[in-house]
Amino acid sequence: MPSRTIFPSTRAKSPCSSEYCTGVVEVKVGEGHNAPSFFLHTGLLGFYSGYFHAALKRHFLPKSDGMIKLPEEDVDTFRIFVTWLYTGQISFAEPGKVYPKLLALWAFADRRGIPLLMNEAINAILHEYLLTLQLPTRRLCEVYDITVPGAGLRRLVVHLISHLWNAKTFIAECDKMELPPDAYRDILCAVWRLKDERGAERMKLREVGQVCEFHEHEEGVKCETEV
Ligand SMILES: [Zn+2]
Repeated sequence: MPSRTIFPSTRAKSPCSSEYCTGVVEVKVGEGHNAPSFFLHTGLLGFYSGYFHAALKRHFLPKSDGMIKLPEEDVDTFRIFVTWLYTGQISFAEPGKVYPKLLALWAFADRRGIPLLMNEAINAILHEYLLTLQLPTRRLCEVYDITVPGAGLRRLVVHLISHLWNAKTFIAECDKMELPPDAYRDILCAVWRLKDERGAERMKLREVGQVCEFHEHEEGVKCETEV
């Protein structure tokens, strides 16, 4: 397997045919005897994911047990990943409760070093927001649990809240749930920043460059196609 240090964060590069024509590796997901196995093409896994790229190198070592085990991962989230890996689409087997699935997917992609999936999960969260005008505010604690300061997902949610909430909403939401301490600071900073931008129009979230601010990209790379 060739050595790679950068994994795609846009669709500008696609896997070539040789990456579809590799052998497969067994990936066992979840715990227990009934934990399902997925047999996935090594070329595809290594193309998109820093984690799998490194794990596959270990997999071919003489003492390897020939299997990648992910006991801590959620099987449903992994199924969404597998579908994305082969179709390029984020889709769900069951309707409803989109935000929890997308947050779990973003966190999975972050853990497994898959920048393109992180970015497409961000796009899907934004798409869901534009469709429903509902924010995952009830999951704000979860967002802060799975992200570090400055992470695109955290900044996106804070950004949407700062545009959507007013003081009355903010107080009402604070009464309903306990916000993470960092969230108070981040939301207030975002609101004050908006206030300072006199005359600035509300951010047009469909504009690619701005959506791209919440993506993970290597230096000098930006999205070229509209989200
Ligand atoms: Zn981007």
